[in-house]
Amino acid sequence: MKFGKITLFVLAAFALVFSFILFLGSFSQTGTSIPVWFSIILAGIGFIMIFFATRAEPPAETGQNVTVNIDLPGQVGMDTIKCKSCGGVLSEKDIKLVAGAPVVTCPFCGTTYQLSEEPKW
Ligand SMILES: [Zn+2]
Repeated sequence: MKFGKITLFVLAAFALVFSFILFLGSFSQTGTSIPVWFSIILAGIGFIMIFFATRAEPPAETGQNVTVNIDLPGQVGMDTIKCKSCGGVLSEKDIKLVAGAPVVTCPFCGTTYQLSEEPKW
């Protein structure tokens, strides 16, 4: 997603520079084959590409915040926690910190309790 944005900016820069050269060229020579409106349209395309490149930023930022929260991707087997009531395997998504204490909400049976017995991290 970020790569596409950079490409869009580079293409927009090329379009703007190229249109500027064409714009100057169309005035310096009387009988040019390239009309003035072509350079104006090219400049417009460049501005539209910049507009879309700057707008495409917000969705990319939300994906980063989710992965930063919990930092144990390599120890999944070690940190497997099971529900006290139904024995279902709980993931890190079910654990929330409430007033400094880790509180687990079981997605299977809906039980909510504190993680006081197994402070494995
Ligand atoms: Zn449960």
